[in-house]
Amino acid sequence: MLNRPRITENGNLGPVDSTVVPRYSGAPTFALLPRLDEVEAAGQRADIKVVGVPFDAGVSYRPGARFGPGHVRQSSRLLRPYNPATDTSPFAQVQVADAGDMAINPFDIDEAIATIQADALDLTADGASLVAIGGDHTIALPLLRAAAERAGSPVALLHFDAHLDTWDTYFGAAYTHGTPFRRAAEEGLLDTEAACHVGTRGPLYGRQDLDDDTRLGFGIVTSADVYRQGADAVAARLAERIGDRPLYLSVDIDVLDPAHAPGTGTPEAGGMTSRELLEILRGLRGANLVGADVVEVAPAYDHAELTGIAAAHVAYDLIGLLGEGRGSGA
Ligand code: MN
Ligand code: MN
Repeated sequence: MLNRPRITENGNLGPVDSTVVPRYSGAPTFALLPRLDEVEAAGQRADIKVVGVPFDAGVSYRPGARFGPGHVRQSSRLLRPYNPATDTSPFAQVQVADAGDMAINPFDIDEAIATIQADALDLTADGASLVAIGGDHTIALPLLRAAAERAGSPVALLHFDAHLDTWDTYFGAAYTHGTPFRRAAEEGLLDTEAACHVGTRGPLYGRQDLDDDTRLGFGIVTSADVYRQGADAVAARLAERIGDRPLYLSVDIDVLDPAHAPGTGTPEAGGMTSRELLEILRGLRGANLVGADVVEVAPAYDHAELTGIAAAHVAYDLIGLLGEGRGSGA
């Protein structure tokens, strides 16, 4: 085995040291972090597990998000260990590991959802938090079920997306990438005092879509609201509403404008910039984040890793947020 020296800081096994091993060589774990089995072999346990959820049988338009986890990992090679925007080292404050990909049935959505839920509960049985890389947005439902079970209560939700994803059915199917948050609301997984979509835009089937969404208990900050009010003001408002509730954060990469994230299944013009999204996440510091996902990266439509890099940076900031919370509380 070739020697792959890692950065070890604060007792935590970190990324391969890219000052001595070129970052474009070797296995593309997320951010060149150790695999979960490597962490466990070193006698450590992981506080945060990055897990791939390669599943896209729930899409309504362009397929391909099943290749998202591999693409985001490849695009994450350039992430460095220190985040000057928050003055933190996300991989030093707690132990972070790449748990690999779930093995999900591509032909049976019900079985796929059950597998994702079971694997998420298994991976968090030791108290670890998950950052899941999708996969289409169907995966958020089983991940939310697991998060609410671990939290022991409904969770607050911040849902970054061009779309509401609170439609009822599509071609008669209840479990698709356009329905996870309606199912989550119906199942009582969400604290509807603090459940909000951020970045929505684009044509709907009708006004009724918005009425249904409001009735289910969701708030909306549109993409235009973010542009007009600014990322800091939006983040401050969201943080106040969420307070110290356990928070699940779901990022559909199509929340970004297609200029920033072309590699996705249902792109809509008029989206947020990657800078706005990252600044909103940074404005949520102090929130009681319990889990997160980044979904809908479909590399076949990507160019020059634009979408993969955006998703990798979003996941990096989410790991930082999660780790800060765990560092002070857990
Ligand atoms: Mn979407
Ligand atoms: Mn979505």
